[in-house]
Amino acid sequence: MLRRTMAEFDIKAGLQQVLKRIDEVLLQRPKEIQAAKPLLVAVSKTKPADAVIEAYKTGQRDFGENYVQELVEKSQHPEILAQCPDIKWHFIGHLQNNKINKILSLPNLHMIQTVDSEKLATKLDAAWSKLKPDTEPPLRVLIQINTSGEEAKSGIETKEAPKLYQFISKNLKHLQLVGIMTIGAFGFDYSTGPNPDFVSLMEVHRSICEANSLTPNSVLVSMGMSNDYDRAIEMGSTVVRVGSSIFGHRAVKA
Ligand SMILES: *Cc1c(COP(=O)(O)O)cnc(C)c1O
Repeated sequence: MLRRTMAEFDIKAGLQQVLKRIDEVLLQRPKEIQAAKPLLVAVSKTKPADAVIEAYKTGQRDFGENYVQELVEKSQHPEILAQCPDIKWHFIGHLQNNKINKILSLPNLHMIQTVDSEKLATKLDAAWSKLKPDTEPPLRVLIQINTSGEEAKSGIETKEAPKLYQFISKNLKHLQLVGIMTIGAFGFDYSTGPNPDFVSLMEVHRSICEANSLTPNSVLVSMGMSNDYDRAIEMGSTVVRVGSSIFGHRAVKA
């Protein structure tokens, strides 16, 4: 019999712990880093609807999913719809062209964090304009950047990112480009210095802000997960995506 590990994990305590840690790090962050207080996105992938509802009841509003099918199920789950009216869903996984319409028609979709090509951006723009009336605000998106250059990871190449930024902000009126995102290499050894993925994402952030005359605070930086969100915040992250520290460890997907 499968044991439900979720019931043993105190989600409320996990969430409060992470929020407390975010506040602590903010106090220590060097003053020259001009960045807003980070938004916490609770990554609920592989966790049941109950877990989402429990975190929502504790006050959490932003949730992240990286499998299309799971987002389809959870965002339309009757209990979540009934009990979490102000929930905001962030899609943080790889998005295939044939899943675009499915994702964009989901209730309470707040942001797509993983736009990594002109082609995908153009398709999202067209799909949003078709699905939504003109009175609807544009779709919020982040550009995902493959800062570690790993072949298995999605994301646009670091040096191509500013160009994609220009392309989307100039041409795609149904998208609201609000920032950039990276996943980065796993298992970085912090005793060797700052995480190079975070360094490169912050460099891209600076060059985008300069090239487009934007204030640093107007371009979101999504970086940092359970094992390093504090390090990311120290460097200027304004969106952290935290899963296991809130919901407990995930069973490995079969
Ligand atoms: C799973 C996942 C996270 C959260 O990972 P944890 O280590 O559980 O905090 C963050 N971002 C993305 C893109 C993910 O897929």
